[in-house]
Amino acid sequence: MEYIPAKTIITRSKKPEYWFGTEYNMNIYKGCCHGCIYCDSRSDCYGITSFDTVRAKENALTIIRDELRRKTKRGVISTGAMSDPYNPFEKELELTRHALELCNAFEFGIAVATKSRLLARDIDVLEDIKEHSPVLCKVTITTSDDALAKKIEPGVPPSSERFALIRELTEHGIYAGVLLMPVLPFLEDSDENIRRIVHMAGEAGAKFIYPAFGVTLRENQREWYFDRLNHLFPGEQIAEKYQKKFGYSYECRSPRSRQLWKVFTKECQDAGILYQMQDIISSYKRPYQLEQLSLFDL
Ligand code: SF4
Repeated sequence: MEYIPAKTIITRSKKPEYWFGTEYNMNIYKGCCHGCIYCDSRSDCYGITSFDTVRAKENALTIIRDELRRKTKRGVISTGAMSDPYNPFEKELELTRHALELCNAFEFGIAVATKSRLLARDIDVLEDIKEHSPVLCKVTITTSDDALAKKIEPGVPPSSERFALIRELTEHGIYAGVLLMPVLPFLEDSDENIRRIVHMAGEAGAKFIYPAFGVTLRENQREWYFDRLNHLFPGEQIAEKYQKKFGYSYECRSPRSRQLWKVFTKECQDAGILYQMQDIISSYKRPYQLEQLSLFDL
């Protein structure tokens, strides 16, 4: 494992209300070896060289402990943007696990985004955190088809195993759901895929699904994505379809997004699954806010 210097690891979120109400961000690793063909973190604007090589931040746990100790305001810390905190090296290094233990010790909440089943290893720590602060687990799933998942997300377990992870979390009383993004135009944007994902999420006990019916593409990542499409789906001319439909646009919204939204919202309503950001935030944080209110009542 290569280590890189870091001055700070926990930063304040700019607009928590737009993204799961999390007050802080924490990235212990840089780069990701999961190889998802659509990964936005590969974009030039982030300037991450050798993105597929995972590097860990030097003295990460000491920095995190000092930062948590100094914070005067408690809150929920989000991890899993730009890099999956449960990469294969985490199994031995346990940096994410120990960071969760620090969050527990200093009474911060946690919101984890991952595609890895390794998260299940840390259910015991999540259970401890949830005794005092909100816990939210977001498992990214973009297709109900394991064979397709293996192609487009080669470094992570197939979707069925990710649904099993959600089941394991919810059986332990951990608040968990699906990040349904991106939904790749011309590959994943069928009614059937969305219906099956909502159905399987419901069976796994998911509390929410947060979708994006499209993908974003920027310099460097766009070229990588098109190259992978041509390699994985020879003769299907999917990259050409993108170029024709979206040109160099950043936002590549599925041409079927309106129809998908209709199907998605109907299925979620029938299954009792939340899908609006504000509802999800209120739902996982409410028990702790009520607790605070009742303390003031005493
Ligand atoms: S797991 Fe996330 S960070 Fe890693 S390659 Fe896939 S999309 Fe990128």
